[in-house]
Amino acid sequence: MVTNTTPPSTLKAPPPQTDFKVGWICILKEEYRAAARILDEQYDTTGLVRSYGDRNHYILGRVGAHNVMINLPPAEMYGQLHAHMIAHGMRSTFSRMRFALLVGIAGGVPSPERDIRLGDVVLGTRAVPYRFGKETDHGFQRTGLVQTPPIKLLEAITLLEKRIRSEDVNLSEAIESIRTKYPKGGAAFLRPAKDRLYKGEFLHKESECDCLRLEPEQGADLHLRDDRKGDLVQVFQGGIGTDNWVIKNAKIRDDIAKRENILCYDMEASAVMDVLPCLPVRGISDYADGHKNDHWRLYASLAAAACARELLLSLSSQFVAQSPLAVAGDVLGQYNVEAVDLNAVSTTGTVDLRHTDSVDGISLQVPWIKALSMAARDSFLTVVSNHTDIWHWLYAFSRTRSGYFYHILYRYYRILTI
Ligand SMILES: [Zn+2]
Repeated sequence: MVTNTTPPSTLKAPPPQTDFKVGWICILKEEYRAAARILDEQYDTTGLVRSYGDRNHYILGRVGAHNVMINLPPAEMYGQLHAHMIAHGMRSTFSRMRFALLVGIAGGVPSPERDIRLGDVVLGTRAVPYRFGKETDHGFQRTGLVQTPPIKLLEAITLLEKRIRSEDVNLSEAIESIRTKYPKGGAAFLRPAKDRLYKGEFLHKESECDCLRLEPEQGADLHLRDDRKGDLVQVFQGGIGTDNWVIKNAKIRDDIAKRENILCYDMEASAVMDVLPCLPVRGISDYADGHKNDHWRLYASLAAAACARELLLSLSSQFVAQSPLAVAGDVLGQYNVEAVDLNAVSTTGTVDLRHTDSVDGISLQVPWIKALSMAARDSFLTVVSNHTDIWHWLYAFSRTRSGYFYHILYRYYRILTI
């Protein structure tokens, strides 16, 4: 008899979906191939419930103490809109998510100050939308806002740095160990031998360029660099130029980098950071010049993945749990808008909340408290009660926005934490 039943998965059942707190976003298939190798353990995804509107597919797994969800990027789709959709989908399905790592490749900006080479990794502490702006009589002026990762992720960089400095982490060795972890597929991730950085004025010539030869013949056009001592793979931190734009020109690369103080270029960081607390982890796969090719894509993807893995291994599960929920901004924004709107409409005919007027002796005489309807208040409190772990964040936020939030949140914080 023929049956259509799917064979049972050999993978372990995952922990509850609410235990997945770290997102790992990849955009290119090379980035996904690298990501799939770094898990300590992979879980069965048969029972995964995706939210309405989430079009991502996922693999679920564990890195050290952290449960991680990795999206499967559709082939040949990249750029900001696509990245935005992936981030939105992930956040809606994993409601207890704290942050995402955007792990993939970028075009590097080598300079006398920073000896960035192919296979190195840049941790993005600023994402600069370098083409978002206006042309004026005095040249281009950027108007797009620079985004930064949340403080918790900047702290995470410090923890990783500490391990690198104490030689607890050697990225070249970590990459090699991941590369050879599985018998299949490791050869594709071998470190390429050829890392040539041409001078800016030496332009690429299609089909006959020096960059295509096995051995360079035009040594005078190459930047000569000393062999690296110590770890071949270095980690930098700084700005990332991010826009729907591919740079393949050394002069443009350097001009923008100088203007914006950036170390590499990608296409997705700002789009993901718009949606989620996110740290971009970028492996350098080319020099964003005319000689750009795809030879280093896999190795650079693996370098970024290995670095992101080491970053996670530097964090305790408590560190992650104490980070604000990725969705917190939305929840609070929604209620803040609602409350302000109600305040603008009327202060009469609504529920008087004066019976909550005193919290630890502090009076709640903020004008629009009285304007908030009971339904709005209850709805707010229900949400908040279900999100006890965003208390610290809400508390900090409320201090800057309104006395109402300050008092109500403080009261519930006390109730929930007793
Ligand atoms: Zn060339």
